[in-house]
Amino acid sequence: MVQALEAKGPALWDICIIGGGATGLGVAVDAASRGFSTLLLERYDFAKGTSSRATKLVHGGVRYLQQGNIKLVTEALYERGILRKNAPHLVKDMSFIVPNYKWWEGPFYGIGLKVYDWMAGSLGLGKSRLLSREETLELAPTLDGEGLRGGVLYHDGQFDDARLAIHLAMTAASQGAVLLNYCRVDSLVKEEGKAAGVVATDEISGKTHTINARVVINATGVFTDSILRMDDVNSEPIIAPSQGVHIMLDKDFLPGDAAILVPHTDDGRVLFAVPWHDKIIIGTTDTPVDSVDIEPRALPEEVNFILKQIGRYLRRVPQPSDIRSVYAGLRPLVKSSSKRTAELSRDHLILVSDSGLITITGGKWTTYRRVAEDTVNMAIEKAGLPKRECITADLPIHGSPQARVGAGASGSATAPGAAPASDAAWNQPLHYYGTDAAAVLAIVNAHPLLGEKIHHRLPYLRAEIVWAAREELAMTVDDALSRRTRSLLLDAQAAIDAAPLVAALLAEELGRDTAWQDRQVEEFNEIAKGYLVQKT
Ligand SMILES: Cc1cc2nc3c(=O)[nH]c(=O)nc-3n(C[C@H](O)[C@H](O)[C@H](O)COP(=O)(O)OP(=O)(O)OC[C@H]3O[C@@H](n4cnc5c(N)ncnc54)[C@H](O)[C@@H]3O)c2cc1C
Repeated sequence: MVQALEAKGPALWDICIIGGGATGLGVAVDAASRGFSTLLLERYDFAKGTSSRATKLVHGGVRYLQQGNIKLVTEALYERGILRKNAPHLVKDMSFIVPNYKWWEGPFYGIGLKVYDWMAGSLGLGKSRLLSREETLELAPTLDGEGLRGGVLYHDGQFDDARLAIHLAMTAASQGAVLLNYCRVDSLVKEEGKAAGVVATDEISGKTHTINARVVINATGVFTDSILRMDDVNSEPIIAPSQGVHIMLDKDFLPGDAAILVPHTDDGRVLFAVPWHDKIIIGTTDTPVDSVDIEPRALPEEVNFILKQIGRYLRRVPQPSDIRSVYAGLRPLVKSSSKRTAELSRDHLILVSDSGLITITGGKWTTYRRVAEDTVNMAIEKAGLPKRECITADLPIHGSPQARVGAGASGSATAPGAAPASDAAWNQPLHYYGTDAAAVLAIVNAHPLLGEKIHHRLPYLRAEIVWAAREELAMTVDDALSRRTRSLLLDAQAAIDAAPLVAALLAEELGRDTAWQDRQVEEFNEIAKGYLVQKT
């Protein structure tokens, strides 16, 4: 997947995408698989922004159902089914329990979740049902039993956001796209007032490139307004960023395979506690913020809010010292006149500027494919590209068993409803690599020392770092520990302790010296501080 812009590029690209998060990567897969010459430029690393900081749910959104946003829920449930079909190694069926402490909650949430089942139709992951008090405690033994009447069980999907991002990048590359991380767009090329390309700096080599393209797509999430200002210095901001925080606890706070949905928090939202990579993710918050940062930091009050809300439901109340890691992400919500970000639109918005610049923002990870389809359709229309149909609904994603036989072709994915992987399979450490797992294991076979873990509290092998550097464009210790593995999110202190070893492994692969390793460790430690709860 390693790319060199000068060697790879045509003089005029069909589509140039700014931003390598869920949205930009989805557009790259769509555009390249329709046969358009496609370039994607990401300032930092793929999914370094919001796209690695999600709750990790592939879902219709029970909360949006509560708000009556039927269109969004229906679309997202459909996309959930498509994604599970095309990336069966990444989307896990998960049982969620809504615990009931009041008499009306069982029938109320039971009926609501039947509607949710019905809306998913044939792409449903399983039927919801009412649980007795005993059944609820059997599935979630650490729930506070006092006053518990029962529960409602429903099904949704779960995934690993940053791994999906890298597998989308690899899918796009296999379809002919060129994708560069650490390549920052500094300005737009204008010809007679039209956006005709970008000027970008390769942050690794320091070289600046002028890139010509028939259409430029701004997919920069919470940074959308900065690109709009490159196009027109007077452009009004359209993004109202909202911060969401999650905390990570050890699995014994919620043993078993089921997740918990707290249906009504003090701020009128929902809260999830979800098993993930043998830990529990709990979140999230919704805090309007004025400025955007690539490494947003959780506020102490956000952490306290989460601890307080979940503490009401668990027998053992988690304390700040129990938190292994805390991470924050910024939602790129589209502005409306409403003051409360919880009510702003999660729907996507496609904006076409007078210059022809196409801006795509909003949406969710779950709906990235649909958002991409709409965006490329718009690009075809506005830039006069040849009309070609979208094929991504049937395009297996890198790592899927179907991708091996189906690369470059459509229509070869498994049928909806194909047997999901067993829980035992999901517990295999390399499961999320899909078909790449064999190649990672081959590295171990060649060098048995690389079969050792990077840290005794982390599930990752040294070979995964080597693989990340060789095949997944990992350039920094942060790439390797935050997104190719999820070490920083799972256990921030363990990730800090593992950083020197990871720097040495990367240096060996990338041909770097010890001074580079020292700088990398220092830069990573600075980032990681924000994930240690005592520093928030
Ligand atoms: C707390 C939280 C929880 C969420 N949970 C879920 C969930 O469980 N399920 C779900 O479906 N969705 C969820 N979402 C929503 C989902 O994560 C986002 O909708 C999605 O990640 C947005 O992706 P994006 O590509 O638009 O933005 P980003 O991921 O932020 O990508 C934009 C990219 O543009 C790059 N960029 C910026 N400026 C430049 C430049 N000048 N040159 C080049 N590149 C540039 C940035 O570096 C960044 O990587 C959640 C969001 C939040 C905040």
